[in-house]
Amino acid sequence: MHGIHGRYLRVDVTQTQATFHPIPESVARRFLGGVGLATWLLYREAPVQIDPLDAQAPLIFAFSPLVGTPLTTSAKFAVVAKSPLTNRLNDALASSHFALAGKRSGADAIVITGQAARPSVLMIEDGKITLEPAEDLWGLEIPDAQARLRQRLGPAFHFAVIGPAGEHLVRFATISHDRRHAGRGGLGAVLGSKRLKAVAVHGTQRCTLADPAGVVAAARSLSERSFGPATAKYRELGTIANLLTLNRLNALPTRNFQQGQLADALHIAGEALHEQQTVTRESCAACTIGCEHIVASSQGPVRIEYETLFALGSLCGLADPDIVLRAAQRCDALGLDTISTGATIAFAMECVERGLLTSPDLRFGRGDALLAAIEQIASRSNLGDWLAEGTKRLAERLGDEALSFAPQVKGLEIPGYDPRAMQTMALGFAVNSRGADHNRSSAYEADFSPHVDRRFGRPESARWAIETEDKATIMDSLILCKFLRGVFEDFYRESASLLRGVTGWDVTAEELRLTARRIVTAKKLYNIREGWTPAEDTLPERFFTQPLPDGLAPGASLTRDRLEAMKSAYYQERGWDPKGFVPADLLQTLQLTDMVAQ
Ligand code: SF4
Repeated sequence: MHGIHGRYLRVDVTQTQATFHPIPESVARRFLGGVGLATWLLYREAPVQIDPLDAQAPLIFAFSPLVGTPLTTSAKFAVVAKSPLTNRLNDALASSHFALAGKRSGADAIVITGQAARPSVLMIEDGKITLEPAEDLWGLEIPDAQARLRQRLGPAFHFAVIGPAGEHLVRFATISHDRRHAGRGGLGAVLGSKRLKAVAVHGTQRCTLADPAGVVAAARSLSERSFGPATAKYRELGTIANLLTLNRLNALPTRNFQQGQLADALHIAGEALHEQQTVTRESCAACTIGCEHIVASSQGPVRIEYETLFALGSLCGLADPDIVLRAAQRCDALGLDTISTGATIAFAMECVERGLLTSPDLRFGRGDALLAAIEQIASRSNLGDWLAEGTKRLAERLGDEALSFAPQVKGLEIPGYDPRAMQTMALGFAVNSRGADHNRSSAYEADFSPHVDRRFGRPESARWAIETEDKATIMDSLILCKFLRGVFEDFYRESASLLRGVTGWDVTAEELRLTARRIVTAKKLYNIREGWTPAEDTLPERFFTQPLPDGLAPGASLTRDRLEAMKSAYYQERGWDPKGFVPADLLQTLQLTDMVAQ
């Protein structure tokens, strides 16, 4: 076998035991790696209907055939578990040296179950494990914990770490590594529930390449193209360039989705940050693009992305760059997903405004209240204990009215695209396996294209939502960074060629298209097993009953019938039945019968 080890490491933290288990080559080829492989493993390893924070609930780190090759942006890993926020499958990706060291530990994936008797660091070295006491690290913020671990373990180990939020089981806590985060869905709480402050990996086991010269040539070509115009946006301003664009389109979620524009958006726009602050660029390991923009704020360096700016800025009615940067820095240090944090606080602000919640200071535009709420969430103190549960659980406490405007789908808070103004994205939010998510669906790409009318979703939009979702699925399983997608002339043909060079499999573009469909349906099968119902594939009532107000651009509206028509077309195109369940004959076509029969 080339490119993979053909086995995964199952770690039982309770017993401090680790055993290798084979991954048949046929499975590796059908699920690739990353999110695909981890989906197969989750279905196999997770007890049915398990509480995500139960000791026996698995947390999976998955690598891929491309990890460790010279291909640009391939140093990535997926983290997959049942989400404590959504109770559905959650997959998140992060970059850098943890991926390289993790794969060199001799496994294509690491499946962690159990619970340590006391706070610990799980050390994995060439497949052998130890648990190191970590009482001295428990309670530390992420930068401090990382510095202490670096000092203690030296440069050979790389580690994924949780902050106080993960320790306190905040349902949207992150797992972090080198300023990158497996951010969404509360995976940090899953690691915290195992009393693990960190997972540290080191190894010496490298995989061979089927065609080393071909892979080196492909890597050179891909790197050269990654310097071109397709990635210029990410190098120049990065994703923060989106803020003014979305504001202009009346699609920038503002004041908990009550508006699509923020009057003073210019103050927190990427352009202003670049003018008024010192901004430097950094790269993940093995990346030639370098999209990370690090702002030298009064609190120290802060990595800033569009999603952070919108969630901690416009969504909370704030346009003060100093507050937004401080809030971003605190979320990163405490280990909080910035989207869910900002959305939960913004939702609470509207609840206070409507008299559904009592917290006099928690008002739109109050930066001091935002910063205080962030600290309370991470420590679960005062109102923070309720907010740490996320918008859906908070709304369920407050009643039906609150539920109608809680900005979530399946429990996951909605990212920075107003679904009324971007209706292919609305479909993507509704049907995606992990809830309201832009990265797994990527349907915003379709809304920015000439193929659809973004303000008027039609059944034909479903085809474009599937196109972007399938492509994202392959990138998340190969694994390659999505910011590379624009450099491919023929994505499936070129991806198949990369995979052939690494693994020696005679994989074709058509096979990869089928693989994407298989992985999307496999995720759906996991969710169905865990209790998914058709009623989950929808949006909050607000988006059907309250049109966006007019602003620089006309306001947009969405109807339930329009979303249902798009959903029906989506299910049909996927081969699912009219309610969204998976028919038996599709399991055969997608070669999923053995997974379900396990
Ligand atoms: S493009 Fe950005 S996110 Fe992607 S690998 Fe490079 S630095 Fe990391």
